[in-house]
Amino acid sequence: MSAEAARQRRLLERLEGDGLDGLLVSDLTNVRYLTGYVGSNAIALISDRTSSLITDSRYAVSAREQAQGVDVAIGRRELLGELAGVMEKLSDGARIGVEADDLTLSRHERISTALERFAIVPTTGVVEDLRVVKDDAELDALRTSAAITDEALRVVAAGEFVGRVEREVAWEIEHALREAGAERASFDAIVAAGPRGARPHAVPSDELIPDDTLLVVDMGAVWQGYCSDMTRTFVLGSPPPDLVEAYRVCHRAQQAALAQARPGIEASALDAVARDEIDRGGMGEAFGHGVGHGVGLDVHERPGVRSEGRETIRAGMAITIEPGIYLEGVGGVRIEDLVLVTDGAPEVISKFPIADPPA
Ligand code: ZN
Ligand code: ZN
Repeated sequence: MSAEAARQRRLLERLEGDGLDGLLVSDLTNVRYLTGYVGSNAIALISDRTSSLITDSRYAVSAREQAQGVDVAIGRRELLGELAGVMEKLSDGARIGVEADDLTLSRHERISTALERFAIVPTTGVVEDLRVVKDDAELDALRTSAAITDEALRVVAAGEFVGRVEREVAWEIEHALREAGAERASFDAIVAAGPRGARPHAVPSDELIPDDTLLVVDMGAVWQGYCSDMTRTFVLGSPPPDLVEAYRVCHRAQQAALAQARPGIEASALDAVARDEIDRGGMGEAFGHGVGHGVGLDVHERPGVRSEGRETIRAGMAITIEPGIYLEGVGGVRIEDLVLVTDGAPEVISKFPIADPPA
């Protein structure tokens, strides 16, 4: 059975538990996850009676090649006209879930009109609940994606950073990712030196990278749809003592949280491991974001590993561990690994070495 067919089967079990006869999947990432379809216009129906993917003629050939475990129907761009036909085998009054987080109000109205003989039930997070624990095919794709990111950074970091323009380094990263086999970057790389590193989501500037400071590089690849995400902070020359101390504290916090990334810990408790370490270092105020997030077909997905995170960490999750310390006007440090949670110690799949704290 294909990975996609196995995912459909897990979805059907879940739907049965929820009292649903089928799910209309409109979120394209969820469509890809369940059927293998890669494209920009499709809707999938997964039900116990019949499962179909509807796309338009632009994707007729590729959809038939890609789609696993579903019939492929080709419709007009709007797709909804084909729905009634595809759902012929379902009985009147069948309870069909729709993805409330994805549907616009107008599309929901059109679906309700086209399918008036069914009960349309808004749902949230049903497919995402499955996606949060990765299957073997996904774990392999994540490992490859992380290896591509490692390789790209190895190429870029082989040169000098000091004296180069941040934006040029960002472009070199993008180029190196592609050269190493990425389909694309999973997000625009962050290359932020000195005070610019104090902005967690800094945009690479036209400024030169100075000496005697910290340089934050955050980057990732996409491989077979799966994202990677890694941050390294480079110690350039002899940074001021407060930045050296920030690096030391962040490094400690990252290692402490990594060690606790195991099944059974609450996401909020895992966040607290890093946060407490940074608090103890007297820099708690300078760590605003969560310690991590899930990674998969989306670069940011569940679980959120932050203080308000409600999920329990489980084996098979792929999460980042990325505490950061941001000293306004001075600089910043963030260290981010992508890890696969296992029944034992976490498998750290970001392998580019983390620099030891300066002596
Ligand atoms: Zn990142
Ligand atoms: Zn991240």
